[in-house]
Amino acid sequence: MAVELSVVVPVHNEEGVLPRFFEELKRVINSLSLSWEVIFVDDGSTDGSWRIISALHRKHSDVVRGVRFTRNFGKEAAIYAGLKASCGKGVVVMDADLQHPPELIPEMVRLWRESGIPIVEAVKERRQREDVGRRLGARLFYRLFEMASGIEIDRATDFKLLDVKVVEIYLALPEKERFFRGLTAWIGFPSAQIPFVPPDRTGGTESRWSFKKLVSFGVGSIVSFSSVPLRLVTYLGIFTFVGSFLLGVQTLIVKLRGNAVPGFTTVILLQLLLGSVLMVALGLIGEYLARIYDEIKGRPLYVVYEALNGLNKGREWNRENDNSGMKVKNEETH
Ligand code: UDP
Ligand code: MG
Repeated sequence: MAVELSVVVPVHNEEGVLPRFFEELKRVINSLSLSWEVIFVDDGSTDGSWRIISALHRKHSDVVRGVRFTRNFGKEAAIYAGLKASCGKGVVVMDADLQHPPELIPEMVRLWRESGIPIVEAVKERRQREDVGRRLGARLFYRLFEMASGIEIDRATDFKLLDVKVVEIYLALPEKERFFRGLTAWIGFPSAQIPFVPPDRTGGTESRWSFKKLVSFGVGSIVSFSSVPLRLVTYLGIFTFVGSFLLGVQTLIVKLRGNAVPGFTTVILLQLLLGSVLMVALGLIGEYLARIYDEIKGRPLYVVYEALNGLNKGREWNRENDNSGMKVKNEETH
């Protein structure tokens, strides 16, 4: 029987919440009377998440599938792998930590099936309670991202239902560095928004994102989306150049008039200013180089360690010369 709805769930150390998540998901989707599957993508969990996924698969082998990475490759890679393994005519992507309430799925499915809307997104009513630093960081990031790419993602989440045609396009995009939220907006089908208030995180209380990961995610997604930052540096360079030229002229005049002061402060300030501008510029160039380097290496986004009824189904191996993901074992393991 053809699968109508796939649910893709990236999982990183979620053992505490997975059983409950699955129960709620099952309850909600069973009320819809459609054929479905859920694909848990274990993104290198170090806790018992994979054990739980395996147990769920044994108990509900008709709906539960699993893909396990060899290590942590990041949520974006997990989403990609899940989309690729999915068979459904529509695919819901959602977090495992119940911050994306399964109760929204029926409404998403209704909009998709009855109104034929290819992208149905759940959007945040307000950001959940987070500490000030994190909130400011998120603000800053969204602002920068909007400025740089022209795509508004402030309230967007990764909780979306995508029609198969959107999924196919997403999977066919050649780039390696991905930003699911931004790219689906970029693909640009008509979409519908369902507002929701994200509940606080259950399971592990800490968000799975460390500060370092967040910063690199933020910089990475902005840089992979636009070259505005590069241009900004150029402007900054011109601006400081004009500034130092004026200052230089002034210094010269003062000197020629013969009342030159020991201008150490100016020198030091200039040094600092130029030094820092150069640093920023070099850093940014490095950022882009790194990006080009990564793309050019053409490494896969992830390596699959094992799969539960996962890899030979779905869209996974339909494309020729596709090396966005690699498998460790050739045979299906279970
Ligand atoms: N996640 C993942 N790989 C990672 C980090 C997170 O697959 O490296 C998963 C995680 O298990 C969860 C989802 O991505 O299902 C969102 O993670 P989290 O709740 O920590 O992020 P936030 O809600 O703060 O955006
Ligand atoms: Mg979360």
